[in-house]
Amino acid sequence: MRYAVLSDIHGNLEALTAVMDALSRQRIDQYLCLGDVVGYGADPAACLARLHSCDAVMVGGNHDLACTGKLDLGWFNDAAKTALTWTRDQLSFTELDALRRLPLTTVVGPFTLVHATLPHPERFEYLVDVAQAVDVFTTCRTPMCLAGHTHIPCFLEYDCAQRRIVRHLAAAQELTDVSFTDTPQTRRYLFNPGSVGQPRDGDPRASVGLIDSEAQRVSVHRVPYDVATAQRKIQRAGLPGFLADRLAAGR
Ligand code: ZN
Repeated sequence: MRYAVLSDIHGNLEALTAVMDALSRQRIDQYLCLGDVVGYGADPAACLARLHSCDAVMVGGNHDLACTGKLDLGWFNDAAKTALTWTRDQLSFTELDALRRLPLTTVVGPFTLVHATLPHPERFEYLVDVAQAVDVFTTCRTPMCLAGHTHIPCFLEYDCAQRRIVRHLAAAQELTDVSFTDTPQTRRYLFNPGSVGQPRDGDPRASVGLIDSEAQRVSVHRVPYDVATAQRKIQRAGLPGFLADRLAAGR
C-alpha cells in the first residue's frame, strides 16, 4: 500500500492543491490526514471538501476542534483566536459537524494517527523532549505512530528492547528516503510529515509524507506553491497580517 500523509493544512488551498497535483502523478492507495485542516488560512471549506473528495482518513486537530467549540479558544494566541472565530463563520453546519465528529486517534493498518501526542491526544502537547517521545512509543499499539502539530517534519525509531530512541532524523536531506522494518516487537516508529499549509522549518514549500508499506520506505516531499495568492486571500479576509507574512518565511 502507498499512503500519502498530510497534516496541518490550515485552510491553505493553494498549498493543498499543489500537493494534490503532485500526488496525482503517484499511485496513492490511501490518503491520511493528521488534523488542523482549518484555522489560519482563507479557504477552510474548500480544503475540507478536497480531503473528503479523496476519502482521506482524518483525525481532529486543535484548530478543527476549537472551531466547533469542543476546545476552548483560551488555549490559543490572539492571531489564532481571530482566525478561528473567522473560520467558524465561514463553515456550514454540515462542515462544522464533520469536524466535530473527527476522532482524536484512529488506526489504519500498521499506523496510529494522532494530531499531537499519545498517550493524551486531548492535551495537544508539542513533542519537544525525549521523555514525551518514549511515552508515545510505549503507548502506541501499532508499529508506527503518525503525528503532526509541530509543523516540522521528523522521523524517530525506538528500540523496544533497549527502551531508547536509536534514530532521530530531522534534516531535510535525511528525510528524502528512510527505511523501516515491520517488526513491532522490537522496533517502533514516529513519523511527522511536516505541514502542508504553514511549514515552520524555514522551508516555505508545502510538506507532505509518503509511506510505501511494502517497500518499507518513508519520505518527505516539498512542493512549491503559489504563496502570494494564499497571502493575498488572508489579507483580503481581514485576518492578521502575521499569518500571511509567515508563509513566505516558512516560520
Ligand atoms: Zn497546526
